[in-house]
Amino acid sequence: MKVESSNDVLVKQTNKGRSVFAARNFRKGETVVVGRRIKVLSLRTIHSLQMDFNLHVELDEPARLINHSCSPNTGVQNNQFGGYDFVALFDILEEDEITFDYETTEYFSIAVPKCLCGSWNCRGQTRGFHFLPLQIRKQYGKFISDYLKQLPELRTV
Ligand SMILES: [Zn+2]
Repeated sequence: MKVESSNDVLVKQTNKGRSVFAARNFRKGETVVVGRRIKVLSLRTIHSLQMDFNLHVELDEPARLINHSCSPNTGVQNNQFGGYDFVALFDILEEDEITFDYETTEYFSIAVPKCLCGSWNCRGQTRGFHFLPLQIRKQYGKFISDYLKQLPELRTV
């Protein structure tokens, strides 16, 4: 069921709720979705994204509908709209589901108690960047929230 669309992505209903799919092919490095801040929250919710140690925001759609994957096809970059751009980590084909790793924005995460991503390296749940092994933290390179780049253990990368 096609709910809404743009030139770049479609929103469809799946067993994970409304989910975002590529409406065309994307090359690695292309921005797939621009997420704009629409609300600042005092506390984390299952729909909020973390922008700083004490800053949780809601993004507009379709960004807020992008599901978590432990093996995602996009990564986040802080943008000029107080939100995140979701950038292709590798080539994405039309009809692929767009995903990102919630643990690259959330220092602690409550959003996914039981992960349905189905990837070979699924971590089972999202607990937050704080709990990620250093190897995975570094694997994302620049594609983590800016505030997490200030952590002492990442400053050398
Ligand atoms: Zn997973």
